[in-house]
Amino acid sequence: MSDDETVEEYLFKIVIIGDSAVGKSNLLSRFARNEFNAHSKATIGVEFQTQSVEIDGKEVKAQIWDTAGQERFRAVTSAYYRGAFGALLVYDISRRATFHNVARWLDELNSHSDTTVARMLVGNKCDLENTRDVSLDEGKSLAESEGLFFIETSALDSTNVWTAFEIVIREIYNNVSRKVL
Ligand code: GDP
Repeated sequence: MSDDETVEEYLFKIVIIGDSAVGKSNLLSRFARNEFNAHSKATIGVEFQTQSVEIDGKEVKAQIWDTAGQERFRAVTSAYYRGAFGALLVYDISRRATFHNVARWLDELNSHSDTTVARMLVGNKCDLENTRDVSLDEGKSLAESEGLFFIETSALDSTNVWTAFEIVIREIYNNVSRKVL
């Protein structure tokens, strides 16, 4: 496994979940294409995009799935979660209701996957400091009590977006290589 000449490739599925309009699609488009869209997309249906991160000299590809609006109809299917190695649970720091609903999303994730799935709680829209409705400490405490990684991001100004995905991808990579080695 440690042969420097060997180029190894990994591909892992990651899902993004959370209430409608918390910024899931924009986090993904920021990470995968460095793009931000001020207007929500109208398309309904699951979509994914891939992006690679270099970890320990290896190319690790993430196939990241976006609910693309399914959650509005409470219709995120088990196929969406199937085979996922990681999950980003997103809320909007300027809308408390989306933070309350994290518990529901976590239940749903747990019912579709086992505890080895790398989980990150993401408080998005941290650029909206003036209308903040959920404190940084509340996010941290929830993550601690549920055993999740935690970060605040802004898909709008790019704050921590790359870091959020990279932490999850690195954790997956570490989990998998521990089993393989
Ligand atoms: P989704 O329904 O969770 O996929 O959310 P979208 O990515 O479609 O974003 C919903 C709305 O929030 C859109 O109008 C975005 O422009 C806006 N938005 C997304 N991320 C951010 C962010 O980090 N900051 C701000 N201020 N607005 C954001």
